[in-house]
Amino acid sequence: MPVFGLGVWNIPPRKAPNAVGLALRMGYRLIDTARLYGNEREVGTAVRESGLPRDQVSVTTKLRGEDQGFDTAIAAAERSMEALGLGSIDLYLIHWPTNRRRESWKALEALQKRGVCRSIGVSNYSISDLEELLNESSVVPAVNQVEFHPWAYDRGLLEYCRRHGIALEAYSPLVQGRGLRDPAIRAMAAKHARTSSQVLLRWGLQHGCIVIPKSDREDHLRENAAVFDFVLSDKEMAALDALGEAR
Ligand code: NDP
Repeated sequence: MPVFGLGVWNIPPRKAPNAVGLALRMGYRLIDTARLYGNEREVGTAVRESGLPRDQVSVTTKLRGEDQGFDTAIAAAERSMEALGLGSIDLYLIHWPTNRRRESWKALEALQKRGVCRSIGVSNYSISDLEELLNESSVVPAVNQVEFHPWAYDRGLLEYCRRHGIALEAYSPLVQGRGLRDPAIRAMAAKHARTSSQVLLRWGLQHGCIVIPKSDREDHLRENAAVFDFVLSDKEMAALDALGEAR
């Protein structure tokens, strides 16, 4: 699975084809959508129209809370698969844990067996949610997608996921844009002659996370993707780790 992708929450359906198409042309190979975002159909169309071989683009979508349960999850996945129109869902996540999370996970296991979903995982799961799942199932989630940036740095969860072979996928890596104005981030960016957004994305990548910043602007999409040619030092990483603790 690519370690960098495009999140499409808050990209309205009329704008999604252009944003996803641009991103794919720039080299993005992971698109993160959800039933809840209302743009699965447009994401699928843009992926198909990109002309890229199907196996080179990874599309994630998610099971809403209201669709959780066994039969309801199966039906929801089938609806998402139909909307995407890509033949399969590369990664299907339980969007957040509800009191029907256990039956939902059983449904995801069945969907993976049937080939509807290539990989399955979870989102917004705490260590105790993951422990419950791992105690009850032999299928380890491929991913736990959680809010993860210096102000939501959960070292314990990161280590737990690493120990169990679960990739941590960082959502809201730019703190929904708010992290970009922080003076410490700006100073570090200036030192590297980079941008605040690039510093925040590097931080996530250097922690071994998959990062999925959202943008529907061409300049931002390009800027966010240019994060593989510089490195934050250990000291800089530690300073960013401490930002959340300092508040
Ligand atoms: P992000 O942290 O990615 O921030 C997005 C905001 O930052 C937008 O306002 C965007 O505006 C702006 N932005 C992006 N790039 C730049 C840039 N280079 N310079 C200046 N501003 C920039 O927020 P999200 O909450 O959207 O998180 C990313 C993705 O994570 C979501 O789209 C979704 O796929 C996923 N997610 C999953 C959740 C879950 O529960 N599983 C919850 C929340 C998010 P503009 O478009 O104008 O560039």
